Amino acid sequence: MTIALARRYRPKRFADLLVQDHVAAVLRGAVARGRVGHGYLLTGPRGVGKTTAARILAMALNCPNRDAAGDPCGECENCLRVWSGSANLDVVEIDAASNRGVDDARELRERAMYAASREGHHKVYIVDEAHMLTREAWNALLKVLEEPPPGVVFVFATTEPQKIAAAAAPVLSRLQRFDFRRIGPGAIRDRLRQVLEAEGIAADDDALTLIARHADGGMRDALSVLDQCLSFGEGAVTAARVREVLGLVGDELYAEVLALAAERRPEGVFPLVDRLVDAGADVAEFMGGAGETLRALLMVQLGHEPDGLTEAMRLALQRYRDRLEPGDVLRMLRLLAESEGAIRRSTNPRLIVETLLLRWTMLDRIVDLAQVLGEGPRGESTERQPRASAAPPAAPAARSAPVSAPADPPPAAIPAQLDAIRVAWPDLVREVRERSRFLGEALSHTTPAALELPWLTVVLAEPNALFVEVLQAQAQVVEEALRQSVGEAIRLRVTEAAPVGAAASAPRRKLSDTSIKADRLKDFRARDPSLDTAADALDLEIVD
Ligand SMILES: [Zn+2]
Repeated sequence: MTIALARRYRPKRFADLLVQDHVAAVLRGAVARGRVGHGYLLTGPRGVGKTTAARILAMALNCPNRDAAGDPCGECENCLRVWSGSANLDVVEIDAASNRGVDDARELRERAMYAASREGHHKVYIVDEAHMLTREAWNALLKVLEEPPPGVVFVFATTEPQKIAAAAAPVLSRLQRFDFRRIGPGAIRDRLRQVLEAEGIAADDDALTLIARHADGGMRDALSVLDQCLSFGEGAVTAARVREVLGLVGDELYAEVLALAAERRPEGVFPLVDRLVDAGADVAEFMGGAGETLRALLMVQLGHEPDGLTEAMRLALQRYRDRLEPGDVLRMLRLLAESEGAIRRSTNPRLIVETLLLRWTMLDRIVDLAQVLGEGPRGESTERQPRASAAPPAAPAARSAPVSAPADPPPAAIPAQLDAIRVAWPDLVREVRERSRFLGEALSHTTPAALELPWLTVVLAEPNALFVEVLQAQAQVVEEALRQSVGEAIRLRVTEAAPVGAAASAPRRKLSDTSIKADRLKDFRARDPSLDTAADALDLEIVD
């Protein structure tokens, strides 16, 4: 195999541009009607076909055998030269990311003045990584675009259009812009399957799924991974081979995660994540794999036989199918879904994975209870919350859980600013809830109590270990919302109000202490009769 697959199977006609039908239709129509513009901007993630579309446009403009619909033949010498990116009088490709590219751009203005090599031909400039062009280069280009020579077409491709907007807004306004879409895993899988069929090579569905997930919307990356897999060994492309090539986490580690969750062993979480990180695994990738594992477990529990499992995974699923309830697995998946948003925004994804795994291993029915309380009907939970206008619990009986500060008693409030924050609080909660439903839920149970810049102390109306945990783990999100809302760099500190009926001086108990959960559950049930129904519906029980 000498030619890379990504190159060999690069589309030659608009019709073959995967997923980007909206772009293909407009460009093809413009060619067919002879109404091609002088400047185009193609934006989108890497590997989704921007440069390919630019080349097809260039091919179509100069192809002697172009069809009535506007597609190039893809076979004539002219088409093939453009398609392969080889030297061509009428199609000039510039990579703006290289130093040479910037120099080229400076010469563009001169060069663009020359007409195409032949009568009726177009001169096409394809500028890749266009956001790398200097302001100077853009200024030169602007002059060309203001009075474009006949037959000259500029196609700029970029992953970062906002940088062009910042450096060259006037140029942008002269370009016709097309936003390329990410290519979904299903479309990538189908295309990989086609390519493999053309090559006469077999592959597992799982293998293609793994590649598609790894490629993250980019066809070029997917084909290049497939290339690596093919050069890595003979015969069919298997999931195991893809894992090996991509350094994906092995199934043994996922089996271990199931063990930790089934056996409620939070102490095993940190060593496991250490090993994961030491092995150079990508934590986001790991979370995806853990999700697949849970899904497979759920399928087994519900009597299905998932396809394409490795032997190690099949054994692990058999072993744990009866040791985790399907309801627990669903809850784990829900917690995973909540964390997946956070991990993309976080500067510390490792912490989020650790928090998630800890929650899995501490998974208990109290989890549901906390959510039932938080999301109960008719918002009755807010009744237990001090009203924003009420006097702040100035010295909350501090069983304190500071987010990132020493557990000093909260300082005296600065009334005006604190009041402003209190007024803004409901809106802020709503905004945070939009970013993370669960974090917003936790925040809705807090009241701003004291402010001593940069520290804002908020009090949780009820002790709730889970809320404290999520507020701690995602304090940054709240702090960012605060900064946007009140314009101050404010840090968040969370304090729990003392549990009702418990002495304020009660010794702090551990999160995993079952007795505290039982107490709390009884307490909740006593004070909120509606909970009984919900608890029964969810088959909750009081652990004695
Ligand atoms: Zn042709």
